[in-house]
Amino acid sequence: MDAADPLRDCRALFHGIDESDVVAYLDGNSLGRPTIEATEAITAAVTQWSERLIRGWDEQWFDLPVTIGDRLGRVLLGAAPGQTTIGDSTTVLLYKLARGALALRPGRTEIVLDTDNFPTDRYVLEGIAAEVGLELRWITVDPAAGVEADAVRDAVSDRTALVVLSHVAYRSGFLADAESITLAAHAAGALVLWDLCHSVGSVPIELDAWGVDFAVGCTYKYLNGGPGSPAFGYVHAAHQEAFRQPIWGWMGRRDPFEMAAGYVPAEGIRRLISGTPAVLGMIAMRSTIDLIDRVGIDAVRAKSIRLTEHALDLCRDLVPGARVGSPLDPARRGGHVTLDHPRFREALPRLWDRGVLPDFRAPEGLRLGPSPLSTSYTEVLTGVRTIAEVLADP
Ligand SMILES: *Cc1c(COP(=O)(O)O)cnc(C)c1O
Repeated sequence: MDAADPLRDCRALFHGIDESDVVAYLDGNSLGRPTIEATEAITAAVTQWSERLIRGWDEQWFDLPVTIGDRLGRVLLGAAPGQTTIGDSTTVLLYKLARGALALRPGRTEIVLDTDNFPTDRYVLEGIAAEVGLELRWITVDPAAGVEADAVRDAVSDRTALVVLSHVAYRSGFLADAESITLAAHAAGALVLWDLCHSVGSVPIELDAWGVDFAVGCTYKYLNGGPGSPAFGYVHAAHQEAFRQPIWGWMGRRDPFEMAAGYVPAEGIRRLISGTPAVLGMIAMRSTIDLIDRVGIDAVRAKSIRLTEHALDLCRDLVPGARVGSPLDPARRGGHVTLDHPRFREALPRLWDRGVLPDFRAPEGLRLGPSPLSTSYTEVLTGVRTIAEVLADP
């Protein structure tokens, strides 16, 4: 399978794979590997910092959030320029986007979300509901599946201001039908905010074509931006003029260097910015965005499906005691799969000791997240064999 893999040459572009003690890296959906190019780009950025000093801001850094945002938007989000910017953590951007979206639906009293969304999404929305006095309407989902469009149709009404969901569920890997759900929310007059953390860089996304209002996502997962690399936020062009986010910082003001009295939001997507952007944190992701631009997201998705099918086939044969906690139809899931077994919690440290790195998600899920650009089929085989061995050895 590795010999026939059209993306097999990409693996050599990653830093230190062969020198590593890791024999199976199955957590690319939590923290992607660095590319060699990214490590060089970071070194070059430090050199630029030492040489250009404060001049670097005017020469390049000031525009970086929107130039990288535009590139990410074009290659991975189906977003025309001027709608995507990089900055803050996903959590902080979720807050800013949700607050800004709610202000566009005055008089509406509910936020629709689901019980199995990523914790930060649930907590941020709980905090907003308490802060501004809104109700949360929870869609209860099976943790091995996800939110169907029908469930959203049932949940929304003329009270709904905003629907916030994950495109790919962090635990089950369920891939939501973002286009149908967006339509269902709009039919009730509500706005949608998609969390793309687990889909960006692994499944095709068409925000403009789907009519999405707002989106947010990580860059340290499939985009290999490095630990804590800043998130991206998308605001559809049609909303930008009316959109106000709640953290009025100088960097999101019109003419920030005028240092003038009073906040006036910058034109366009820059108004989503609050403070000084994390320039060094934005450097690494460019390499993976460019790599996906070259190979195409469809090739990435095709390999991603083959990798997860391979993992499930092997598990069926080698780990028969485990239950699949993900959709069985690959068209209904993203880039990772979860297996459930009562002994996975204790198995995890033993797997890590042996250089096999999946992650564990409570209550008893082992999550396998192969990253199509850097993970080989052999790694998946080694990983599943080791899981079987560890379970067989009490
Ligand atoms: C990883 C992830 C996050 C992470 O948020 P941070 O602010 O970067 O810690 C948020 N939402 C989802 C769905 C995720 O998968």
